[in-house]
Amino acid sequence: MENQPRFETLAIHAGQAPDPATGAVMTPIYQTSTYVQQGVGEHKGYDYARTGNPTRTALEECLAALEGARYGLAFASGMAAIDTLLKLLNPGDHVLASNDVYGGTFRLFEKQYRKYGIEFSYAELTDLPAVSAGLKSNTRYVWIETPTNPRLKVADIRAIAQMAHAYNPAIRVIVDNTFATPYLQQPLALGADVVVHSTTKYLGGHSDVVGGAVLTSDAAVYEPLQFLQNAAGAVPGPMDCFLVLRGLKTLPVRMDRHGENALAVAQFLADHPKVSDVIYPGLDSHPQHAAAKKQMRNAGGMISFFIHGGERATRDFVARTKFFALAESLGGVESLIEIPAAMTHGSTQGSPLEVGPGLIRLSVGLENKDDLIDDLRQALMGV
Ligand code: PLP
Repeated sequence: MENQPRFETLAIHAGQAPDPATGAVMTPIYQTSTYVQQGVGEHKGYDYARTGNPTRTALEECLAALEGARYGLAFASGMAAIDTLLKLLNPGDHVLASNDVYGGTFRLFEKQYRKYGIEFSYAELTDLPAVSAGLKSNTRYVWIETPTNPRLKVADIRAIAQMAHAYNPAIRVIVDNTFATPYLQQPLALGADVVVHSTTKYLGGHSDVVGGAVLTSDAAVYEPLQFLQNAAGAVPGPMDCFLVLRGLKTLPVRMDRHGENALAVAQFLADHPKVSDVIYPGLDSHPQHAAAKKQMRNAGGMISFFIHGGERATRDFVARTKFFALAESLGGVESLIEIPAAMTHGSTQGSPLEVGPGLIRLSVGLENKDDLIDDLRQALMGV
């Protein structure tokens, strides 16, 4: 019997057989909005590009293979993917979410879906009794981000999925796997029902595309979601699908190096006298270090930390780094630095999810790790 291809092989080949029309090795960018029909309703599987596009199909098949899912759907952004999942809910349904999530996710929950009668509550998902206490008879989704953005909390996916399904088998456990990627963490194999991604981040990997995806083996989620992908139409264009596919081919080697560089940077920061606290799941000091080791291949490329000297020193510091560019987003080959309270998580201000002004978030890129450490050292010297 033939072996199942392994992750690295799937990242390069899944959904991407050479083009049957030309033999092109790279998936063509099918830049077309429509497809000719031989007779009414007689076509080669594609009739209109909101409904389907071969470049998008290749991306959807590759992402599904990488997450171990039967079905994949690509969207125009991570938020479009999340929005489409929320549209499956009905008034009166409840979502139990992590008390630390991407600011845009929180904003969509609170500013849009709450007014449609969807109920949201937020729990410390690293604490299993708190998860249990948060489940209700009308809970439909348990929304996990792990590691979370920006506090890098690690939730035990297997334990939460078991608990939620034991409480009510109809609950769907959804994992936003953007920070970890399927190379580091496989939520469906751990018992989750649905994985959502911002492909803008590590999957694209080069800060040149915005996209999202949902992966699941559950037909009861896939079918209405596919209906909405077409009916509402938040689809990615073929060029964007091509860019994510190209990024996926190097995902395993990039994630190995992101993890190696981030661990070195986190260790440097932890020993620095001007740094007051470092949050990185790969450090022994992280409260969920053991959970991270259990479910992740390495601890990823994201680090959060605080420096002494308050808000002023923090703002001075982030303006002084040279290789770490001051910018929102994450997961590209280049290193980025930001202050979530003032940038990516502004929408959480005044809420229980509020991020303090002193938290600094790094996306550690693929530059030489000693250059990255030198850059942080010189920036810290100036504050
Ligand atoms: N989920 C997480 C964890 C994110 O960090 C982001 C964006 O930063 C999103 C979802 C939203 O993705 P996008 O910006 O592609 O819409």
